[in-house]
Amino acid sequence: TNAALDRQSLPFLTGDPKRLLIGGEWVESASGRTFPSIDPSTGATIAEIAQADPDDVNRAVAAARAAFEGPWRSLTPAARQSIIWQVADVIEANAAELRRLEAVDMGMPIGRDPGAGADKLVEVLRYFAGFATKIHGRTLPNSMPWQILTYTSHEPVGVVASIIPWNSPINNVLWKLAPVLASGCTMVLKPAEEASLVALRIGELLSGTDLPDGVVNIVTGFGEAGAALVEHPGVDKVAFTGSTATGQAIVRASAGNLKRLTLELGGKSPDVVFADADFRRAVPGVAMGVFGNSGQACCAGTRIFVERPIFEEFAAALTAYTAKLKVGPSLDPQTRIGPLVSQAQLSRVTGYLDIGREAGARVLAGGARLTDGDLANGYFVPPTLLADVTDDMAVVREEIFGPVGCLLPFDTVEEVAARSNDTEFGLAGGIWTTNLGNAHRLAALMRTGTVWVNTYNLFDPAVPFGGYKMSGWGHENGPDALGQYLTTKAVWVRT
Ligand code: NAD
Repeated sequence: TNAALDRQSLPFLTGDPKRLLIGGEWVESASGRTFPSIDPSTGATIAEIAQADPDDVNRAVAAARAAFEGPWRSLTPAARQSIIWQVADVIEANAAELRRLEAVDMGMPIGRDPGAGADKLVEVLRYFAGFATKIHGRTLPNSMPWQILTYTSHEPVGVVASIIPWNSPINNVLWKLAPVLASGCTMVLKPAEEASLVALRIGELLSGTDLPDGVVNIVTGFGEAGAALVEHPGVDKVAFTGSTATGQAIVRASAGNLKRLTLELGGKSPDVVFADADFRRAVPGVAMGVFGNSGQACCAGTRIFVERPIFEEFAAALTAYTAKLKVGPSLDPQTRIGPLVSQAQLSRVTGYLDIGREAGARVLAGGARLTDGDLANGYFVPPTLLADVTDDMAVVREEIFGPVGCLLPFDTVEEVAARSNDTEFGLAGGIWTTNLGNAHRLAALMRTGTVWVNTYNLFDPAVPFGGYKMSGWGHENGPDALGQYLTTKAVWVRT
């Protein structure tokens, strides 16, 4: 079938085990251990991945340091810029393969966004490439009694440990890679254990460019490898995306040498539908806001607040739309909702469904694992809508990271603002209304790093993305994101 894994089209999957990329060489882990990479659509092992241990991390950090002090620093900004364009070109040329690899790596449906071309995939690289030649300081007038020239320059922070999750493998890598290269930093990338293949293939593609050896190093493995990076005195900054609990552990573990940190963490985002919303947009928009990528999205709009007069009507329309979303294997182009990434994630999500039902939630759509025919060996949970839920229930408060939306009625803007903000998270929020006043009022009141009005889950390299509260520190994307990879030097010259 279309959905079957065709290894011929993914030659990268042959030739196990995959290795670590350290200083431009593909090397085995010092531990000699490997772990399986599993296709979540079928449960089958598709590759063996090298399991890095702290010795490998030491070697990777040393390679990143040598590249930072050596060849990478001596390149002109223009040379760095053209290398980033080269990287973008080679990734763009191999986008179809990377998308297939992503589909078997973590279950992202290959047909998820038919409108997104290969250029869209790499635009983050091209956006940041432009900054490489525009990193400049200022000459600052001082009030000293002598003739003194004072100026600033912005220098790369150094060796960056980029630790990423599994939920969007290509973007997870490229959002970290682009500012590292533009700023002149070097990196040790630690992909998530659930999805390492895309990162490794991108590493191979980099080897064919003029990027000096050691600028990008890749250590695959578990949290142990991530922790070794976070504690390493040779690492200057950690750029982390993942769960809030791991983010907290990183804050504590990085204290040794006071590493700079950026943290992109979890969420439990509100999506608010007013009575005057345009249903033609709001119904699919809310559905994909919560169910896109099987809900394995940090911004997923999981708390769906609906103004009381339209609650039943909207719930019915959303339920009907949800029931039609095609769930299936990630390589089937018709699939809109793929599997969950792993057996562990499947157990987590079905566990929350049990907790919700026990607490009195009413299941409007979905609700149980799918085990029909071909789906039996994969980790499939259909899009699930829960009603009769209250703000204090675990399914409403905690990040499930699966295709589960909770429907909650509301009466006033002030009330829905307070309830939207009644969470430890602050990543994103959505508003559906044709009343501009309500849109701007609620957008101002939401304590979240992103607010989408009459749309959801849009990202662009030019627009900053980051969290309030326990959703994190700092931003990715946007004109200021590069600054988080730079440090400012002031120079005083007596003339
Ligand atoms: P996770 O925190 O379990 O793992 C993320 C990465 O951290 C993995 O590479 C893992 O190996 C590594 N890690 C684990 N323990 C570590 C430690 N002690 N020290 C250093 N590294 C360690 O998260 P996950 O399950 O892979 O991803 C899901 C989470 O990521 C969700 O909470 C989601 O909201 C969040 N997320 C956030 C964003 C965002 O931009 N805000 C984007 C995607 C995902």
